[in-house]
Amino acid sequence: MHAKINAEEVLRRLKNQTINYDKVLRKMIVKWEAQEDKPTILLHSCCAPCSTSTLEFLCQHAEVTIFFSNSNIHPKSEYQRRAHEQKRFVDQFNERTGHQAGFIEDEYRPEVFTRMVMFHQLAEEEEGGERCSACFNMRLDRVAQVAQELGFDYFGSALTLSPKKNSQLINELGLEVQQLYDVNYLPSDFKKNKGYERSIVMCREYDVYRQCYCGCVFAAKQQGVDLREVNKEALAYLKDKHENWDKISFNFGRSKAKEAKENHD
Ligand code: SF4
Ligand code: SF4
Repeated sequence: MHAKINAEEVLRRLKNQTINYDKVLRKMIVKWEAQEDKPTILLHSCCAPCSTSTLEFLCQHAEVTIFFSNSNIHPKSEYQRRAHEQKRFVDQFNERTGHQAGFIEDEYRPEVFTRMVMFHQLAEEEEGGERCSACFNMRLDRVAQVAQELGFDYFGSALTLSPKKNSQLINELGLEVQQLYDVNYLPSDFKKNKGYERSIVMCREYDVYRQCYCGCVFAAKQQGVDLREVNKEALAYLKDKHENWDKISFNFGRSKAKEAKENHD
């Protein structure tokens, strides 16, 4: 039986202070250690870079499964390239470290993201604005839903490693989403304690692909990204990797989660 700590209990004690979500997570880890607990975490990631040092840190304290749920990514070939790079990284990370991080890929449903953007008239929003809040919320909600279905102790996101993403907002959204599900949110600010710098080193060590735009067609167009070139490069990558695609195998970090997934399927 794992100790499920509600981050809001820790936050209540920190009221009137600027919230350092890394500090909140570390306080939770101290409690896990005191209880000799290694909880299970379903951690959303949108591509390999943000999962690198995040996995290295979290796997010391918990059983982590990466959840690739990113229907925001356009085009499909780029989505597949990022998914493959994410799988490859988890596999090599396990091989090199002896950890057993898991990997789950969600269904790719770009029409759900596009419909949401159009319905709320968010297409013209600048990167970092309302469209991104809705996009974070969509993915946090999905990871919480699946974490609950599969019996994980916590859900969270590796997005807080990126200095380009508003980690205060991501944590606030995560805590709001937590209210809707029977699974606790894992607060984080993975870029702290040189987490971001370490991710750059690890991307080099593992030769991880680093994309040139966040993911959606709206931000790509605003940035002037040549999506034809992105598609061409992604298709070439996929053709090259295709032969090895099936050789990568993954374990769930926890047998209970595995059983739950099998039952769910
Ligand atoms: S925030 Fe950017 S770099 Fe980080 S996982 Fe998402 S797309 Fe990749
Ligand atoms: S820029 Fe990134 S976070 Fe913002 S809506 Fe597009 S894909 Fe989502």
